[in-house]
Amino acid sequence: MGQTAYRTHHATEVSEALVGQKVTLAGWVDRRRDHGGVAFIDLRDSTGLVQVVIYDEEVARPLRSEYVVQLTGEVRERPEGNENEHLTTGKVEVVVEGLKVLAKADALPFQVSTALENESENKLPGEDVRLKYRYLDLRRPAMQYNLKLRSDMTKAARHALEEMDFTEVETPTFIKSTPEGARDFVVPARLVPGSWYALPQSPQLLKQLLMVGGVERYYQLARCYRDEDFRADRQPEFTQLDMEMAYVDQEDVMAMAEKVIAAIWKTQGHEVRLPLPRISWQEAMDKYGSDKPDLRFGNPIVELTDYFKDTPFRVFQAPYVGAVRFEGGADTPRRQFDAWQEWARQRGAKGLAYVVFGQDGELKGPVAKNLSEQERAGLKEAVGAQNGDAVFFAAGGRESSQLLLGAARVEIADRAGLLKPDEFAFTWVVDFPLFKRTDDPDDDDVAVGHSKWTSMHHPFTMPSADWIDSFDQDPEHAMSDSYDIVCNGEEMGGGSVRIHRDDIQDRVLNVLGIDKDEAQEKFGFLLEAFKYGAPPHAGIAFGWDRAVSILAGASSIRDVIAFPKAGGGRDPLTGAPAPISDAQRAETGVDYDPDEDE
Ligand code: ASP
Repeated sequence: MGQTAYRTHHATEVSEALVGQKVTLAGWVDRRRDHGGVAFIDLRDSTGLVQVVIYDEEVARPLRSEYVVQLTGEVRERPEGNENEHLTTGKVEVVVEGLKVLAKADALPFQVSTALENESENKLPGEDVRLKYRYLDLRRPAMQYNLKLRSDMTKAARHALEEMDFTEVETPTFIKSTPEGARDFVVPARLVPGSWYALPQSPQLLKQLLMVGGVERYYQLARCYRDEDFRADRQPEFTQLDMEMAYVDQEDVMAMAEKVIAAIWKTQGHEVRLPLPRISWQEAMDKYGSDKPDLRFGNPIVELTDYFKDTPFRVFQAPYVGAVRFEGGADTPRRQFDAWQEWARQRGAKGLAYVVFGQDGELKGPVAKNLSEQERAGLKEAVGAQNGDAVFFAAGGRESSQLLLGAARVEIADRAGLLKPDEFAFTWVVDFPLFKRTDDPDDDDVAVGHSKWTSMHHPFTMPSADWIDSFDQDPEHAMSDSYDIVCNGEEMGGGSVRIHRDDIQDRVLNVLGIDKDEAQEKFGFLLEAFKYGAPPHAGIAFGWDRAVSILAGASSIRDVIAFPKAGGGRDPLTGAPAPISDAQRAETGVDYDPDEDE
């Protein structure tokens, strides 16, 4: 990293090659140990640790954890038996000749020392404390690693995109609403009392305008804002790697996006084999009970609706019956099966029916006695189970049953240790429906219009070629040209071919229940732009925080964001959101009432 006014070397640059030489280092006191009048200090900087030895007690005495020091000393080999193979600098140490305290540190709210890194993360304080003192939390090597990885990924993505002749363009964040299915954050406009800017849920409309504007290949690392109810791994503001291209189709976009994925995964030494596999949305739902299937393991859901079509068992007399195999589940104690019931109830299901195939092949479990002789006889084969397995069933509505079985499938794999964070199973999910119902209780997206249909992706998504003429007659079955990229059961990105004709856009808005006036008011500027020669265009956006967290193997996207929000959108560090003063209120015009003005 090179020399500065404060140091000749970084900690991890101190190596055997420097033995006998003088170095000047600067960093934090990570830990100190005292051995009979000699103090050993781990000095930490952004590269890692090096051990320094202080023989002068006067010098060592005042030093505490996280003091910032600058020191000069001679590099020597560690005495035999004192090497530390866990450290890159473990064969050497620096014998201090001069040391200056650059800044003191108060008693810490929690231990920052890297000694923690080899122990359980449980030693860390609760997340609120970590976020309140984020600047301390960030000193931990795990966090330094995540931020560096993020930066490396960004560099690689930029490079890959520049190679493909993309132009990076910044779009404004004070805009008119862009509907992506969430609520807008809004900002009062002081100069136009009673008027508000919306913060972009994504740069969607702006990037489409860039296509009309002749920028044929655009990208941006865009900050997006969505005011959603709190969900575990979401942030109210987040980053997208956003791309849009003109004169392309779905295949072109997918091929270019794959190159970006391969480039960013390569930064960590992973070769991603291209082209990536694909699965249709319908197949993903049928086999994996999810539109973002985790394909690190198999074990697809088996549909048994036909198998049970004449069943005497009332529960299975349903529009859909499916099952998922629980390999080796026969040994599961009764109370654990009870816990599975609770698990299912938490997902809004009534329970999780199951059978067990004993080692001797005998069929047991609460459901078994309700089945006909014939059903019992063929079940093992129908589900692809073995003796010693258990099988979970769901019966009822197709989608809700599939979602439950899909979640059970992942839970079974998780408990069996099959969800390895350093294995990456990518898939494109393609052939999405164009619309979804607005009355789905499991869906908390905000409908764009006022009909029973809302967009599955967003209102600017092109119906697939077969549906261009008829999508508005049969919104339930209409398909779209959209695609999601999924890795390890997480949606890493998504995009679509866009509508570039105002007549098709009008008809889609019509299905969504947005009439001409409202359309004009909301996105008249886009519809107008389409009148002046809009090229065919398509794009995609990667959820950048999510992509980084997947590659980093982080358990939460908060671990790859320098200053994330805590639950409820709070920032424990700065105290945002916070009340504003009366004077500020008056000035911003938030209380402006047009009626009073008249
Ligand atoms: N704007 C979309 C989103 O934020 C992505 C895209 O269609 O490019 O999900």
